[in-house]
Amino acid sequence: MNRMSDALPDGVQISAIPAFTDNYIWCLHNQTHAVVVDPGDAEPVQAFCKQNGLSLEAVLITHHHRDHTGGIARLASANPSLPVIGPAGGHIRGITRSVDEGDDIHLNVVNCAFTVMELPGHTLDHIAFYGHGLVLCGDTLFSGGCGRLFEGSPAQMHHSLNKLKRLPDNTRVFCTHEYTQANMQFALAVEPDNEELQQHANLIEKLRSEDNITLPSSMQKEKAINPFLRSHKSSVAAAASQWQGEELDDDTAVFTALRRWKDQF
Ligand code: ZN
Ligand code: FE
Repeated sequence: MNRMSDALPDGVQISAIPAFTDNYIWCLHNQTHAVVVDPGDAEPVQAFCKQNGLSLEAVLITHHHRDHTGGIARLASANPSLPVIGPAGGHIRGITRSVDEGDDIHLNVVNCAFTVMELPGHTLDHIAFYGHGLVLCGDTLFSGGCGRLFEGSPAQMHHSLNKLKRLPDNTRVFCTHEYTQANMQFALAVEPDNEELQQHANLIEKLRSEDNITLPSSMQKEKAINPFLRSHKSSVAAAASQWQGEELDDDTAVFTALRRWKDQF
């Protein structure tokens, strides 16, 4: 078991269980055991496990929002000893193990281990799980975008995104919403001349027209196309300054303007 290895152990895969209109409940599983992340709804998780002959052995939670936690009670009532691992604070009903920055989680049933990263911004309790060359980042980083600031400040979110940016380029990024196509529209408004972004937007349009998932992404891709990871770029700073109507000269000010611009886009 080596979380620094950049792959999942042999025989372990990660599948998307769609929920609500645009959520994905990520499911780590082998032939017999499953671990799910952010089960906003129990029903699709139970259906997936039944269909694939899997027993649910643990639940990971990234933050308190209902679309990420709404299924906990029903999943736990089907298995009272189910570990539910998530943010500390005691505010999320059903959490059986609270974790914070740097904690290691060993999921022996799928032979995996993850390290907890605290990422305040979208909410103050937001955490991510990093290991095996992937990050389960909840509503902090989306492909081409980032979470809205419901609780944290722009500076906190900018700091959290910079933390994710320091992960290796080949890190696979598992976000919890299918927002990529709408995010491409905004990203193109910010950086109309970014060629990699133009190409990626075309790919996403094709994927969505065929009803395909656009995730996971990678840190390398996000650093090239996601305006919220590019506030240090002169092209992005210029666009944000123009929108704001004043010269913005530091990263955090550019990020703050981008987030406000996107909220009104
Ligand atoms: Zn959320
Ligand atoms: Fe959400």
